[in-house]
Amino acid sequence: MRRMRCVKIVATLGPASSDHDTIRALVEAGADVFRLNMSHGTHAEIGDRHANVRAVEAEAGRPIAILADLQGPKLRVGTFAAGAADLEEGEVFRLDLDPAPGESHRVCLPHPEIFQALEPGATLLVNDGKIRLRVDACGEDFAECTVMVGGTISDRKGVNVPDVVLPVAALSEKDRADLEFACGLGVDWVALSFVQRAADVQEARALVGERALLMAKIEKPAALKEFDEILAVSDGIMIARGDLGVELPVQSIPPIQKRLIRRVRAAAKPVIVATQMLESMITSPMPTRAEISDVATAIYEGADAVMLSAESAAGNYPVDAVSTMNNVAIEVEGDPIYRDIIVASRSVPHRTIADGIVAAAREIAETTDIKAICCFTESGTTVSLVARERPSVPIIGLTSVPRVARRLCLTWGTHAVVTDEPVDRFKKAVLSAVRAARRDGFADPQDQIVVTAGLPFNVPGSTNILRVAPCEERLIYRTDPE
Ligand code: PEP
Repeated sequence: MRRMRCVKIVATLGPASSDHDTIRALVEAGADVFRLNMSHGTHAEIGDRHANVRAVEAEAGRPIAILADLQGPKLRVGTFAAGAADLEEGEVFRLDLDPAPGESHRVCLPHPEIFQALEPGATLLVNDGKIRLRVDACGEDFAECTVMVGGTISDRKGVNVPDVVLPVAALSEKDRADLEFACGLGVDWVALSFVQRAADVQEARALVGERALLMAKIEKPAALKEFDEILAVSDGIMIARGDLGVELPVQSIPPIQKRLIRRVRAAAKPVIVATQMLESMITSPMPTRAEISDVATAIYEGADAVMLSAESAAGNYPVDAVSTMNNVAIEVEGDPIYRDIIVASRSVPHRTIADGIVAAAREIAETTDIKAICCFTESGTTVSLVARERPSVPIIGLTSVPRVARRLCLTWGTHAVVTDEPVDRFKKAVLSAVRAARRDGFADPQDQIVVTAGLPFNVPGSTNILRVAPCEERLIYRTDPE
């Protein structure tokens, strides 16, 4: 099944979308990657979702990526005697470590480390930023606050502390258990929530090892301050606009999104734009015009992927939401202005042989009538470099390693193919590329493709060959060296 677009679609699974048939319908509508949100659902439910995706993948005969998204050190208040309380503007509200049920003037915040980091003047945001508290006085086990913006606060609502780098572990006990569980299932990507520093990613890397790639979710001001360091140690970035828009003024999100996409693209790593992209489709079959524009903007900016959260996990129209994203992507990518923007925002290749080969592959493909750039890759690196070039022709990533093919499902413009066996001869590589391009509908016998590979074969990072190959097998047998 060939996609007619370059941007990828990530769909979060949940109660609305976890059965086999719905997952299959989501794939047919355009989902390339499924997100398992570890904040919701039991391990048994998440295990079932994972198994259903793998079953659909086997039926579809094409790789599908699975991304496990860890909850991270999310701060939450305790409970209230009445389940909720109304906070009035100008009133005093106290947070403390007392587990007794709360009321309209106090509640438990069961995170002693937060009290140690707070300072008078700091802001606390509760319930997605709807309630705003100013810390007036604090000690080791309390914070005395003034309610700046009031509202209703209920049991276990989330708390954000935007101005302070929190002395909290990157991975909670729950995250560690979820991480082991997800890696045991065999997920392809793990997303880390509330990353504050590069060391948070490195801590997760030590636990994950080679079992999955790591995606840092950017949702805290501290992560923006240390963004280059975080990007350097991560395999991909998610612009998690939900919490980011709580911790920072919402109007700062569009420029941050633009800046981050540029920097992640330049690093040849995938970048996902996430949250509220088609929010109204949770309850309506028809998105708002503004939502369509939001999805389109991310695509014009060259994001690798756009993501659905509650729209596909818990909404009434999960399949329509994916189709909507698919339709927007096809429309935008067919716009000549899209190519102008993508080319203008392309980064300069580094002075390495691999970068030279992929830049040349793109030049040749765009100068002549080439149907696809086919890359043999053992680690996925060459494909990521070609994707950084954002060529105007499809990228076919050929690998003998199924998990590498799955990981590439997040990479812009890439059609990942698992080859039957590792290639060990050049002619075999070219034949394998031609067969994949023809079988999957990218080229006809009279067409030509570009093939890149590395000698010696199967050594990551050795890309050093570029061949313009005919798609007629007879000609390859006649002309190509063994
Ligand atoms: C977000 O905050 O935008 C996000 C993607 O994270 P989560 O859905 O885990 O809150």
